[in-house]
Amino acid sequence: MKTLDQFDLTGRSALVTGAASGIGLAYAEAAAEAGASVTLTDVDGDGAEREAARLRDEGFVARAQSCDVAQLDQVAAAFDAHVETFSGCDIAFANAGWDAGNGFWTPEGKRNPDGQIDKYDPERWDRSIRINLTGAFHTVREAARVMKQNAERNGRRGGSIVMTSSNAAEVNEAIVGVPYMPAKAGVKHFMRHMAYELAAFGIRVNAIAPGPFVTNIGGGWLKKDPAARKAWDELVPVGAVAETYQIKPLALLLASDAGSYMTGAHVMIDGGMQLGPVKPL
Ligand code: NAD
Repeated sequence: MKTLDQFDLTGRSALVTGAASGIGLAYAEAAAEAGASVTLTDVDGDGAEREAARLRDEGFVARAQSCDVAQLDQVAAAFDAHVETFSGCDIAFANAGWDAGNGFWTPEGKRNPDGQIDKYDPERWDRSIRINLTGAFHTVREAARVMKQNAERNGRRGGSIVMTSSNAAEVNEAIVGVPYMPAKAGVKHFMRHMAYELAAFGIRVNAIAPGPFVTNIGGGWLKKDPAARKAWDELVPVGAVAETYQIKPLALLLASDAGSYMTGAHVMIDGGMQLGPVKPL
């Protein structure tokens, strides 16, 4: 098979969580551009519908559904509606995530009183674990359920699950709220265990671990604060924080047959941040 043909998703379908914005929206666009029919889900149902409508206007097959990944019944309903519409589900992006942006440092380099461990709000801890880790569990659980039925529904076996982890699964981020690090480390190890369990069913499971991308996470400080953005650009070994289009090729690699021999991989896309910041701190 020709190399670029392996990225073709014609005739496949993909469901994305957290697709109204940022990285999840880029995944939905990438899958649609490669030929897949897509469902954009998000706790912000209006945002998901807005972006699905834009994709339809551009000629793609896209629908939207409101879905809070912290609620298993909503995740199950989203997969059921997707399967009903598209006769199966070949690709699931377990992407939705959240961070309050209250690390022990502020992006401006000041000590943040609310982010210190001895002051940390237990409700924020619970919310972060519930969305970032339990939400990933709900999504993989329901993706596996419907992908195991693909053969009888559409004649294809298995599928591909792509999770969004973070470089924070492996390195520490002083400006990110403390529960985010253990939540994403949990996502990484959960992904590896799911890859191990689901390989027998033809289901591949991998995770993308982004470094700093310009999105709305953490209150969107990289978008809103030019000074903070410039300071971060200067820290990244390749010279700048990332725009979301830069994640699309990796998403397609893992989602498509191009990644047919990849499972259990935690792929860093961080501009070299894991190697260390450019400037000494
Ligand atoms: P974003 O805020 O732009 O997008 C996140 C989307 O998830 C939003 O549309 C939001 O409404 C949705 N969401 C939040 N809570 C949800 C819930 N309970 N159920 C369903 N949807 C929910 O941020 P992003 O940066 O695109 O984040 C996407 C993923 O990338 C997250 O898992 C995040 O942890 C991860 N990530 C981002 C970066 C970065 O620098 N931007 C770095 C590493 C990892």
